[in-house]
Amino acid sequence: MDKRVSLAKRRGYVFQSSEIYGGLGSVWDYGPLGVELKKNIKERWWRSMVHERHDIEGLDAAILMHPKVWEASGHVAGFTDPLVDCKQCKNRFRADDPKIKGTPGQPDAQCPVCGSKGTLTAPRQFNLMFKTFMGPVEEQAAVIYLRPETAQGIYVNYLNVLQSSRQKIPFGIAQIGKAFRNEITPGNFIFRTREFEQMEMQFFVKPGTETEWFEFWRGERMKWVEGLGVRAEKLRWHQHGKDELAHYATDAYDIQYEFPFGWQEFEGIHNRTDFDLSNHQKHAGKKLDYLDPKTNERFVPYVVETSAGADRTTLVVLCDAYREEAVRGDEAAEGGEQRVVLKLKPSLAPLKAAVFPLVNKDGMPELAHRIHDDLRRHFNVFYDDGGSIGRRYRRQDEAGTPFGITIDGQSTQDQTVTVRDRDTLKQDRVAAGKLVEYLTQKLAG
Ligand code: ATP
Repeated sequence: MDKRVSLAKRRGYVFQSSEIYGGLGSVWDYGPLGVELKKNIKERWWRSMVHERHDIEGLDAAILMHPKVWEASGHVAGFTDPLVDCKQCKNRFRADDPKIKGTPGQPDAQCPVCGSKGTLTAPRQFNLMFKTFMGPVEEQAAVIYLRPETAQGIYVNYLNVLQSSRQKIPFGIAQIGKAFRNEITPGNFIFRTREFEQMEMQFFVKPGTETEWFEFWRGERMKWVEGLGVRAEKLRWHQHGKDELAHYATDAYDIQYEFPFGWQEFEGIHNRTDFDLSNHQKHAGKKLDYLDPKTNERFVPYVVETSAGADRTTLVVLCDAYREEAVRGDEAAEGGEQRVVLKLKPSLAPLKAAVFPLVNKDGMPELAHRIHDDLRRHFNVFYDDGGSIGRRYRRQDEAGTPFGITIDGQSTQDQTVTVRDRDTLKQDRVAAGKLVEYLTQKLAG
């Protein structure tokens, strides 16, 4: 994992937040390449969930919501982790932290940080929602929360979307947005952070059909994940046992990836029943039921949710693409016998190609600049004339750039260039005028 984190920093994927001040715990910033990768993943999700479906609408709800939303949703009372404090060193742990020896609250319990005995408190529930105050007065009545999930913005808008879009049940609402959780055991880079982005879709169905839709969405979501180019043997399903289910769910499956730190979830498919809509109906005193135009029946819809983390999915893609390889032949002579390469799916890669004049003379830079200007009207393309060509290839391998376009002595004679494939290291000779067509074809999918 350390190698992936250091590559992510070196190549401008992910930086620690506020790094010059020593960083802010479990908060990360996306650099020039990271922002492109994450955006490509979000756009792919949006396209498949919203644009390619007739039965899903998009939404962008605000992060700040009426505080009663979180009472109705159960988050004020139930979105908690049991924590223990060490009275000696003031550190705080999850009660189930395997590093704690003994039973917290009892004289035998030993603090995993300072080693004191009998100083750990009994577990207390700690709410994971970030609180702040709205308006000028810092008092209880002004408390609001940063949303811990995007789903609630969808539920409270469900009638607005239904009526304005003229959809009929079954239909869904999709949203991408930030969520915040004051996680106590964050870590593993961008796996668990305090500020993160979710890509969530809530599908509203007639009660009695939810199991069928649940299965449908499990299938769709796994297909989408496989479409990111992630190796199939690194993916698996995990069904939640009774003790793992969230307070709102009756059934839940996670899609897990085998990260360098083990198998972990990055997306969940949840059967949330009518829990959320019924509770909002009660707390807001507004009817949220649906009149089926065909059968004239009234019901509160059931919800099947697909909930993915944009950051965690980005981490999956980054971890899966990372390879260290032995290199032979010309490439080894030019750039060394080992290379680190991010084998990102070309359509997800931040940079699609890099343009290299072989040397900075003999008309090569002029032609290279012309090609670069032409290509960047179509793709995100990089220009690099620094160092040996072997070194330039290796930098782009690490960045995950699928194609390297070299302008050499022959290019200025016949207007052809070489295109090097990041994965096979094969080189094609392509007419400069055909590059857009060539790349468009290679980047599809
Ligand atoms: P975990 O148990 O790993 O914290 P969760 O089961 O609480 O996750 P959900 O509430 O189901 O997660 O959230 C759905 C998705 O949102 C997760 O699969 C994950 O991709 C993302 N997510 C949740 N919490 C975080 C976080 N703290 N940092 C980054 N992504 C997160």
